[in-house]
Amino acid sequence: MTDTLIEVDLDTPATENSQVHNRWHPDIPMAAWVEPGADFVLETYDWTSGAIGNNDDASDVRDLDLSIVHYLSGPVGVKGAESGDLLVVDLLDLGAKPEAPWGFNGVFAKHNGGGFLTEHYPRAQKTIWDFHGLYTSSRHVPGVEFIGLIHPGLIGCLPSRELLETWNKREKALVDSDPDHVPPLATLPVAETAHMGAMTGDARNQAAAEGARTVPPREHGGNVDIKDLSRGSKIFFPIYVDGAGLSVGDLHFSQGDGEITFCGAIEMAGGWVHMKVDLIKNGMAKYGVSSPIFKPSPIVPNYQDYLIFEGISVDESGRQHYLDANVAYRQACLNAIEYLKKFGYSGEQAYSILGVAPVQGHLSGVVDIPNSCATLWIPSEIFDFDIHPGADGPIQHIDGSVDVPIAGDA
Ligand code: ZN
Repeated sequence: MTDTLIEVDLDTPATENSQVHNRWHPDIPMAAWVEPGADFVLETYDWTSGAIGNNDDASDVRDLDLSIVHYLSGPVGVKGAESGDLLVVDLLDLGAKPEAPWGFNGVFAKHNGGGFLTEHYPRAQKTIWDFHGLYTSSRHVPGVEFIGLIHPGLIGCLPSRELLETWNKREKALVDSDPDHVPPLATLPVAETAHMGAMTGDARNQAAAEGARTVPPREHGGNVDIKDLSRGSKIFFPIYVDGAGLSVGDLHFSQGDGEITFCGAIEMAGGWVHMKVDLIKNGMAKYGVSSPIFKPSPIVPNYQDYLIFEGISVDESGRQHYLDANVAYRQACLNAIEYLKKFGYSGEQAYSILGVAPVQGHLSGVVDIPNSCATLWIPSEIFDFDIHPGADGPIQHIDGSVDVPIAGDA
C-alpha cells in the first residue's frame, strides 16, 4: 500500500499542521523525505483551509484575508537531490477527499484580489460545484455539466536564498512603480499570516518576514494554474535547493485556460495527490532548463465540438493596443459572456462557466500589427441545450430563477 506522507484533517486549521506551509522560503524544513523512485500520497487542504463555505452566501469570498493563502502540503525532500538537478514528478492520480465531494469558484471583489474581468464584475461572487464521480454540476449555474480534469493549481520546489531575494526585489520594484494600484501589482511578504511549516522561534519569524507569497507562478513552478497538469502528466522541475523540497496544494477539480475569475477554478474542499518522484542529475544544465517543463496526460476528456470566440487587442472603450495578448483574451471572454447571456445566463453565471469549465484559450496570432488575436474555445457538449447560432435565434433555456450569490458593493 502506498504511504500517505502528509495527512490533513479538514476540521482542523492548516496553521496547526506542521507539514503544511503558505510561503516559499529555503529554510522551511522538509516535512518528509523519500528516495528517488518512490511513490507516495500527499493530502491537501483547499487553498484557504476551509475559509469558504458550502452555502449560498458570498460574504466569505468578499471578506477573505488573501494573505493567508495558499496552504501547501510539503515540502517533501528527495534524498540525493542537489541544486542544478531536475526533479521528475509523475502525477499518478488525484482525487477528492471522500468527506469533501464539492468545490467552489470565487470571483474576488475589485478591492480584495480582483480578477481578469474585475472592471466588469467588481463584486464578490461564488458558485458551489458538486462532484459526481468524474462529473460536476452546480446549483448556481443550471444547464451545464462536464468532466473534471483534476490538477494541482500550485506545485513547485523550494527556492534558493538567491532566487528568493531576486523575487522579492523585482516584485517590490513593480509595486513601487504604482503603489496605490487597485488591486496591487504584486503580493509582497506579509509576516503576520505566514505559516512556515515546522519552523519555530526567531528563525521562523525572520523567514516569515521575507517568505515569498504563493500567488504568482515563478521559475520554480508555483501557482501555475495549468489545467493540463492532470492525472497522468509528468513534470520536470528545476531544483534550487538540496533535497528539492516539493510542495503541492490548491487542487482544482476543473478550470478553464487562464483561470480568469482569479479563484477561477473549482477549488476542491479537500484532496489528495498520488505522485512519484525521480531525479535527472545536473539536468538543468544538460537540458537548458530554468523553468518547469511538462508532458500532458494521455487521458483527456473527449470533447469534439467547440464554439470559438475571437478577441483582438482593442479594449472595451475602443482604444487600440499594440499586440496586447491580455487585452485580446479579455475581449474573447467578454464576447463569449455576451453570447451566453442570450440563452438566459446572467453575466455572473457565464463568467463562472468560463472560469471552471474545460474551455481552452489560445494565442492565435501575435504578429499581425496592431492586433493580437486570442481565442476562447467553449466545448458545446457541456451544455444540456444547443448553443450554436442558427436562423431561429437563441432559445432562452435558463429562466433566471437561480443565480450566483453576490456580496458587497460595486
Ligand atoms: Zn486554485
